[in-house]
Amino acid sequence: MSAPPMDGYDRRIDYLRISVTDRCNLRCRYCMPAEGVWKLGHEEVLRYEEIMRLAAIAVRMGISKIRITGGEPLVRKDILYLCANISRLEGLKSLSVTTNGVLLGEYAEKLFSAGIRRLNISLDTLKPERFFQITRVDCFQQVWEGILAAQRVGISPIKLNAVILRGTNDDEIEDLARLTVDHPFHVRFIELMPFRPQEEHSPSEFVSSDEILERLSGIAPLQPAAGPEGNGPAVHFRLPGALGTIGIISPITHHFCAKCNRLRLTADGKLRTCLFASEETDLRQLLRNGATDASIMETIRKAILSKPERHSLERPFSRKCISRPMFAIGG
Ligand code: SAM
Ligand code: SF4
Ligand code: SF4
Repeated sequence: MSAPPMDGYDRRIDYLRISVTDRCNLRCRYCMPAEGVWKLGHEEVLRYEEIMRLAAIAVRMGISKIRITGGEPLVRKDILYLCANISRLEGLKSLSVTTNGVLLGEYAEKLFSAGIRRLNISLDTLKPERFFQITRVDCFQQVWEGILAAQRVGISPIKLNAVILRGTNDDEIEDLARLTVDHPFHVRFIELMPFRPQEEHSPSEFVSSDEILERLSGIAPLQPAAGPEGNGPAVHFRLPGALGTIGIISPITHHFCAKCNRLRLTADGKLRTCLFASEETDLRQLLRNGATDASIMETIRKAILSKPERHSLERPFSRKCISRPMFAIGG
C-alpha cells in the first residue's frame, strides 16, 4: 500500500465514501422530495464487481478508510456480500456503514459477521409522531430497536446523527444529548445543509452549531472529549459521567475544509472530490471501456489534485448548493 495521495492544498486524502444506491426506504424532508424522486437506471448503477475493483484500487493508492452509504445502503440486494469483500482488503483500516436504521434489526448481526464494526445511524428525534413528520414513514420503534440490536451484537462505535431543524426538532437537542448518559452512543448534531430546493427549506430552519452548543451548555458543564474517530470533522464533548459523547459538526458555519480528507464515489460511478462542487470524474466509463488499473489510478490522482480548497456557503441557504441531491451523492 502506498502513502495516501495529497491534493493541491497539502491535504492527505485517505477516506472514500462509496454510495451503493440512490434508493431509500425513507423520505427525510431535508434530503428527498415526498414523491417523484429522480432515480438512476439499473444499468447506470455500478455493479458490485465494479465497486470492488475501485475500492481495491483506492486502497492500493493509500485510502485506508471506507464508508458505505447511499441513499439507504441496506436496501441494496446482497449488500453483505459487498461489505464482506471490502472488509478483506489488505491495508484498509476502517470500514463503516451509514444507515437510517430501518433494516438494522434484521441486519445488525449479519453486518457484524461481514466485518462491519462501526455504524453511523441517522436519528433526528425520539418521538414517534415526529419521526413520521420528518421521514414521512412511521417506523421510529423499528429504528430504535435496530440501534439497540447493533449495540447488542457489539458494533462500536455507534454514532447517531441528528440534523436539527428549527421549529421541527430543535426542542429535542437536550434529550438527544442525554441519550449519551446511559448509552455508549456518540450523538452528533449536524448543521442542516441546503440540498433541497429553497421552496422546501426555509432559511429560518437553519440552527447553527454555536446555538446548539449554547443549548447543550445549559444541561451541564460540557467536558471536551476525544472522539471515536480520531481527527474527524466533529468537535466532541462529554456530559459528566456519560458513557457516550456529543459531537458537533458544522459544515456550514465552521467548515472543516482545511482538514478535509475525503472523496466520494456516487452509485453511478462518478468520483466527487467535494460534496459541494459540481465537478465529477466518470470512473464508470473507464471501467466499462476496459481501462487498466494504472490508468484508473492516474485519473483518480488527477481528480484529487483538482479538489477545491473549500466551499463558499457562509451564507447558508443563499442558494441551493449542488448539482445533485444528497441521496444521489452519498452522505
Ligand atoms: N440513508 C442513510 C442515512 O440517512 O443515514 C445514509 C445516507 S444519508 C444521505 C447520510 C447522512 O446525510 C444522514 O446522516 C443524513 O442525516 C444526512 N443528510 C441528508 N440530507 C442532509 C441535509 N440537507 N443536511 C444535513 N445532513 C443531511
Ligand atoms: Fe434516505 Fe438517508 Fe436521505 Fe433520509 S437522509 S431520505 S434515510 S438517504
Ligand atoms: Fe471537504 Fe468540500 Fe466538504 Fe469542504 S465542502 S469539507 S472540501 S467535501
